[in-house]
Amino acid sequence: MIKARSVAIIGGGIGGLTVANALKRIGMSVALYERAPYFIPTAGAAFGLQPNGQASLAHIGFKDQIEKTLHPFMKWNIINDNCEIVATSDKLSELGKRYGYFMGGTIRSELVDILKEPLEKDGVLYYSHNVINIKQDNDGVTISFENEKQQKPIRVDMVIGADGIHSTVVKQIFTQTAPSIYSKENIFFGMIDNIDQHTSINPIITAKNTFVQYFGRGQAMTCRAGNEGQYMWAVTYPSVTPPSTSDDAEWTKMNNQRELDHYLSRFPQSHFIHQCVAATDKQRLLHFGLYYRQHRNDGWHRNRICLLGDACHATLPYVGQGANMAIEDAISLAMCLEKYNFQMEPAFQEYYKKRFNRTKRIVDMSRYMGLLYHSQNPIIHSIRQRMLPWFITSDMMTKRFEKELFENCPIPLK
Ligand SMILES: Cc1cc2nc3c(=O)[nH]c(=O)nc-3n(C[C@H](O)[C@H](O)[C@H](O)COP(=O)(O)OP(=O)(O)OC[C@H]3O[C@@H](n4cnc5c(N)ncnc54)[C@H](O)[C@@H]3O)c2cc1C
Repeated sequence: MIKARSVAIIGGGIGGLTVANALKRIGMSVALYERAPYFIPTAGAAFGLQPNGQASLAHIGFKDQIEKTLHPFMKWNIINDNCEIVATSDKLSELGKRYGYFMGGTIRSELVDILKEPLEKDGVLYYSHNVINIKQDNDGVTISFENEKQQKPIRVDMVIGADGIHSTVVKQIFTQTAPSIYSKENIFFGMIDNIDQHTSINPIITAKNTFVQYFGRGQAMTCRAGNEGQYMWAVTYPSVTPPSTSDDAEWTKMNNQRELDHYLSRFPQSHFIHQCVAATDKQRLLHFGLYYRQHRNDGWHRNRICLLGDACHATLPYVGQGANMAIEDAISLAMCLEKYNFQMEPAFQEYYKKRFNRTKRIVDMSRYMGLLYHSQNPIIHSIRQRMLPWFITSDMMTKRFEKELFENCPIPLK
């Protein structure tokens, strides 16, 4: 069986950064290649860093840093057009206290900073390296970069494709690759710095440690995302076309003011979403189409090259698990490699077996949630409005979260 010692990771997203740290920790020689010239602090906004993601990162030594950056949710409120609370639940707090990990929000750039630091220190994180070609043979893998003159091809034992939803690695190793699927839903996404200074926003919306959701003309959610007063809001809505098709550009800019104005006109002037948009700096306003990827059922590796994260199972955001699944993949892959003493074939096979159903459940669940949240059908709308308040306070919800977030994590929680 062929063993790997040196590994090149393609893509410095949350998945790539996590796997680089995890493999470094078990003694592999790691190099991470990211095509961006640096991590732009305003690229992206925030996301849910859930107990399973936190436990996985704690397993590779990031427990204290994660605790500092996480803004935990104790309360879950559902509100109506007039910012009145129609349902409230303390179940998230109970769950967090029981397991020692709270559901919460985190700023993407803060998490990136935490994960990149040990790699930069070791000089193994290479920016401005856009991988364009990968060739493997019996003895190793050769990787070539776009800037051929300055960046000579490199040779390694093993490659991990962590290059996101528009993955180049996927196209290189599989002859047939279905494109990612547009969900016919778009998102406006904003970050507000120093929310406490923006007192015009109703305090019900901006309360600390509170996750707020609204369902009506699409779905809206808001929450504190960091411990420094940063505040995230997002609205998702059905659409026929995505606003932009160009790779990661969508994470860095808001490119359709007219669509935003049109969308906002559906809400009464008193609706909180107007205030959220008004308080958001243009630089922190994003707009993009929501995509997912159909699960490959023919394995996630070919010989020496293996995939993780959005490259093999991109999901919609409705259960807040995209980054957490990439983190879990990274930990699971490192555990399999360690278990099989760095023999790639059995390790990759076991990794795929462990991760396939787990990630498929999340991708499917998110799709169904998206359909439920955005349905214009009056019957479904009425069932949803009745069910959600019941759901967030029910034991069924707690049990479902326990099962999905705690029991099925590669790192068992108590
Ligand atoms: C800039 C950015 C901002 C984001 N912001 C948010 C957010 O605010 N909220 C949210 O919920 N999700 C956000 N996401 C998505 C979320 O981080 C991912 O869905 C999830 O974490 C899965 O991560 P991943 O590592 O599999 O892929 P990604 O996070 O998409 O990372 C892929 C990385 O690979 C790099 N890459 C791609 N092709 C190549 C190549 N050929 N050579 C070298 N490098 C390459 C990309 O530049 C990127 O850094 C963002 C993603 C990106 C890239």
